[in-house]
Amino acid sequence: MTGLLVLPFLGASVTLAAEVPEDSRSPIENVIGAFSSSDWTTVDEARIELESHPSEAVPALITLLGRDEHVPLQNTMALIYPGAKKFYGHGGIVDYDIDWLSVRAGWALEAITFESFGFKEQAIDESKLLAAVLEGHRDRPLDEVADLQCDSGLKTRLRSDAATRAKTWWQASSGGWTRFQGLLDALRSDDPVRQSFAIGWLRYGDTRCDGLNRDTYEQRVRPEIECLAESKDKGVSTQAKLLLEGKALRSYCRRCGYDLSHAYTLVQQQRRRATAKRNAAIRETQYVLAPEHLKELYESRPWRDIRPPRCAKCGEEAGPAP
Ligand SMILES: [Zn+2]
Repeated sequence: MTGLLVLPFLGASVTLAAEVPEDSRSPIENVIGAFSSSDWTTVDEARIELESHPSEAVPALITLLGRDEHVPLQNTMALIYPGAKKFYGHGGIVDYDIDWLSVRAGWALEAITFESFGFKEQAIDESKLLAAVLEGHRDRPLDEVADLQCDSGLKTRLRSDAATRAKTWWQASSGGWTRFQGLLDALRSDDPVRQSFAIGWLRYGDTRCDGLNRDTYEQRVRPEIECLAESKDKGVSTQAKLLLEGKALRSYCRRCGYDLSHAYTLVQQQRRRATAKRNAAIRETQYVLAPEHLKELYESRPWRDIRPPRCAKCGEEAGPAP
């Protein structure tokens, strides 16, 4: 789960880590290739793709757990994660050391399944970051505001233990597992971490979950959220109350009730790519283009031509993003 995500606006340069040529691989292998790259935008887009195709993604990610390789991310901008060198006072938070491919796989697995295998670093405390910002501590090394684990032997053991837990879980659960059932199981579990994953995704998730629509939300999800609003865990009860108050980005088709969050994400991606393309055109031509053409390029707003999404079930055009 990514909190407070500030989307990067730079063009993605895809650097695939695997040796197999891209076109001879299956679609899921291509996504795993992009997910294993060092470019953050590419990785995050692949994460959304994986999360939205859970039945293919989970076994592929379980395999990726076996690659305990260090692939430091580039172009992360203000992203706050254990591999970041600097804290800029703002940015999306990923409390997983996703420079390690096995942890990156675990990050996606926990996001898809709402299980807690122990990949989370527990290094980044949002209230501590906020306190640092309020005290004016920006643009400083991340390790001054986060409790980064430096013992590499211990980190290796924690990664390996978490991977073992994930593999054992998949051996026991692979038959008949669905993401929607996983969501309900997490809400009904006694584990505040899993409950937080599930509620956080219901509030901000940008991916697809077959089986979730307005009716199943009302009948099967909402009663669980109402129970969790009374939880003794303060974080869980606060999040549950905010979800019940409608403070969520998730929205459903006004005609048939289908969950539209993933459709909005894809439109947002298209807009981001259109923006990046225009910015690249400006960069490349600013010294050679006639002033009136350059002005035209500066004033163009190509992302505005990209329409809001249509419902994948009934075709109804959705409203502007929630
Ligand atoms: Zn619809």
